[in-house]
This record gives sequence, C-alpha cells and structure tokens, in this order.
Amino acid sequence: MLELRNVDAFYGRAQALFSISLKVEEGECVALLGRNGAGKTTTLLSIMNLVKNTGDILFKGKPLNGKQAFSVAKAGVGFVPDSRRIFPTLSVEENLKLGRKTAPDGAANWTVDRVYGVFPKLGQIAGRDGGNLSGGEQQMLSIARALMGNPDILMLDEPTEGLAPVIVEDLVEIISNLKREKMTVLLVEQNVGAALSLAERCYIYDHGYITEEKTSEEIAQDEKLKHELLGV
Ligand code: ATP
Repeated sequence: MLELRNVDAFYGRAQALFSISLKVEEGECVALLGRNGAGKTTTLLSIMNLVKNTGDILFKGKPLNGKQAFSVAKAGVGFVPDSRRIFPTLSVEENLKLGRKTAPDGAANWTVDRVYGVFPKLGQIAGRDGGNLSGGEQQMLSIARALMGNPDILMLDEPTEGLAPVIVEDLVEIISNLKREKMTVLLVEQNVGAALSLAERCYIYDHGYITEEKTSEEIAQDEKLKHELLGV
C-alpha cells in the first residue's frame, strides 16, 4: 500500500534521513522504532510532504512526491501528529465532524456512530469541549478524527506518549480493534512494549538510517536489541 524508496530528507541544509526504504502492505501494522532524533517523525513528515525530501514515495502504486499535504490526506493517508491538535472550544462531536470526508467509493465510511462504537469513551463525552479533555481522551479524539477522513492508512506519531499505563493499555486495545477492522497502520513509538504488541514488523532507525528490519517476534526474543531499544 505504501512504499518509500531511497528517501532522503532535509531541514535546511541538515540531512535528517538517508536513503530510507520501507514498505507497508495492506492490512499490516508496521512500527518505526529507535532513539530520539533518529528520524522516525521525519519519515512521516516526508510522506505528508511537510519536509523537503527526495526519492520515491508510492501510495497505492502512485507517486506522492510533489503533492501538498492536503492532497496526500485526500489520497487516503490519515496522519495523527504527536501534537494532537484538538480544537479546544469545539465539542468532541464537533471536532469529529470537522474531520469528516467521504471515501471515494462511499463504502465502509466512518460515521460518528461507528467511531463511538470503537471509542465508547468518546460517545460518553461527546458534548464536552476539546479543551477539557485528559491526555488520553485527546489522543483518542485525534485518532478518531483522522478516521472520520476515511483513510486507507493511518499514521500515528507516538500515540502513547505522556499517557498513564492504564490509558496506554486502552489505546493499544483500540488500535488492535482498528487492525481487526483491516485498517493499515504505520506507527512511530518509543514504547517498545506497545509497539511489539501491535506491529507485525518493525524498522529500526539510527541517526537517520534504517539499520534493521525485523518481525516483532524476532525483536521480542532478542534481549540485547530489546535492551538497546528500551534504553532510549
Ligand atoms: P523523536 O521521537 O524525538 O521525534 P525521531 O526519531 O522522530 O525522534 P525526528 O524528529 O525525525 O526524530 O528528527 C530527526 C533529526 O532531524 C534530528 O536530528 C532532529 O534534531 C532533526 N530535526 C527534527 N525536526 C527539525 C526541525 N524542525 N529543524 C531542524 N532539524 C530538525
């Protein structure tokens, strides 16, 4: 569904990504792991074309290069940045409705009711202002809002960051439910446990390079690698 071939990315003259190549197949959950500053977020920003990049980025077989971020979103890429960006003076339901976009074929559209089915908590607080939500509620709302755009792939940048362990568990369960609904997911995570329980495959980043590609099972059994990843 999504493929990057030899992608380099730059902030001004500083190069942040070096020849990144990766693939996400339809229905798969793939995680990007690695230390702070290794280039995981920059990879998602390159896909959205929010940072200068070269190389090939293909989505459903067609190049995304040169498209502006809103066109990338329109093509079916749902991006949930780590900043969450909830509208504080709008209610939960109004925030959701702002994300609404009809799928090209009109099939399997996400509606407010379908979202409340997956995120029951959001249904309970539908009328509350976005500014009065906990961190976990904001994260759920930002994922739910991205779903309202009927994406073919959901890219999540550190969804568990700053959340209490019990909330992380809720979120992992919700993302698992989305996988069961056949959603394709590209996940950036510092929480290795959460990443390994969600993703089938992982790419490991170091200083702007992908150094390894492994299945989550392989990482789970590799104490040394796990220690390095947990030691970030
Ligand atoms: P983190 O978890 O900290 O976000 P990351 O793996 O996602 O880590 P990136 O945010 O992609 O890493 O950063 C990759 C490199 O690009 C780092 O060296 C970082 O300092 C640099 N960088 C990121 N954003 C900018 C920016 N706006 N301007 C200049 N350099 C940046």
